[in-house]
Amino acid sequence: MPRMVRIPLFTVRTPLMLVRFFGVRGSIPLSDLRIWQHGGNTPCVEVETPAGYRIILDGGTGLRALGQVPAWGSDAGPHHACCLLSHYHWDHIQGLPFFAPLYDPRNQIAFFGLPPENGAAMKSALQGQMLKPYFPVDLSALAAAQTFTAVESGRRWVLHDATIESERLHHPQGCLGFRIETECGVVVYATDNEPGDPLGDAMLRHLARDADVLICDAQYAPAMLEKRRGWGHSSWLEATAVAEAAHVRCLLLFHHDPDSDDTTIRRSVRLARERFPETWAAAEGLTVQCQTPLVTVCPTAPRIGPRVPARFPVRLRGRGADGVALDITGSLTNMTLKGTYVVAPEAFEEGSEIEVSWLDENAQETPMQGTVVRIDPGRENRNPGIGIALHVEIGFGGSEDAEVVSRHGVKASARRAVAHDEPGRIISALPGNAPQGK
Ligand SMILES: [Zn+2]
Ligand SMILES: [Zn+2]
Repeated sequence: MPRMVRIPLFTVRTPLMLVRFFGVRGSIPLSDLRIWQHGGNTPCVEVETPAGYRIILDGGTGLRALGQVPAWGSDAGPHHACCLLSHYHWDHIQGLPFFAPLYDPRNQIAFFGLPPENGAAMKSALQGQMLKPYFPVDLSALAAAQTFTAVESGRRWVLHDATIESERLHHPQGCLGFRIETECGVVVYATDNEPGDPLGDAMLRHLARDADVLICDAQYAPAMLEKRRGWGHSSWLEATAVAEAAHVRCLLLFHHDPDSDDTTIRRSVRLARERFPETWAAAEGLTVQCQTPLVTVCPTAPRIGPRVPARFPVRLRGRGADGVALDITGSLTNMTLKGTYVVAPEAFEEGSEIEVSWLDENAQETPMQGTVVRIDPGRENRNPGIGIALHVEIGFGGSEDAEVVSRHGVKASARRAVAHDEPGRIISALPGNAPQGK
């Protein structure tokens, strides 16, 4: 009989393991319009176990945003949680001084990580970044109760309803990968790893064995990996090889290179899917629900932003809900700087690529590429509504950035209308076929 957990009033939640991404960028935080779709914060992922225990994976700059979600607010506290640190490179710890729950004396955070290679204690390695002259606030301001436990490779330990396993990865100054097992499935976090070391490669495959979700270093394209041997990172191609060999259900490409814009990351996903179809790019705001044997990937709401009403015909080419190629005419009903919404006689497959063509008075087409991010059945005259995130190339400077211009004379200030999509639309449910009994 399924265990019922966290029952707020009369709502019963089905046991789930939730993975939420707050920072997915490698090496250095970025703020750049060309990466709005995936985000610029450095690694921070939260795993919520079926019983509601919160496990933070790495404390990169994404940790600041994690500390601001209502579930981490002071009203929802006190919080007892843990933070598993892969290693102590800046991109994995820089968010810690900005994690608001660390300043609340009622909270307890248990840190686990590799013993630092220079012999420093884990606590001093972490707090060193707050010493004078690097940081304005004294260490004593971090009033939450904190414990620091060094863990080695090959350890297994229990935290509430989760069993954690650690394995050493191949990375300068060392790094740990973590495997989190619960009654709802297995999530493996393996970032900052360079392939090519026979022992390291074997350990990573062992760590990822039969995982429902593998979050894997995929910083480079394969050619770039060869140029950057020794830097401690992997490629999307290597990530797919691990996912396949370890019988993983769902692969999340992670630790995106600072030089990889959204277009580059989308191209990597496209190529990776030719080898391992259930591949996604980790992105800020992305949530993965795990309820073995089902893994559900819920993207961000990429069409949030100023919205301009419109009404004109468009041609839509893509993959229908049953996987068959579709080429139909629909009606565009609104547009944002990042996407558009159309009503059409048939639905397209959520998560699939789609081409939207503007038709002008002379039936000339202006095609744009996009991804289907939501389907609303029966939106208009029983026809479905289709939300599409366009793969826009964002330029810099000039007034074009603030305007939406179409060849049909729809020209409007982007500030005129503001609306929001519903968050957390499900675009893929992956039935499992990996071996059972992990
Ligand atoms: Zn890193
Ligand atoms: Zn590193």
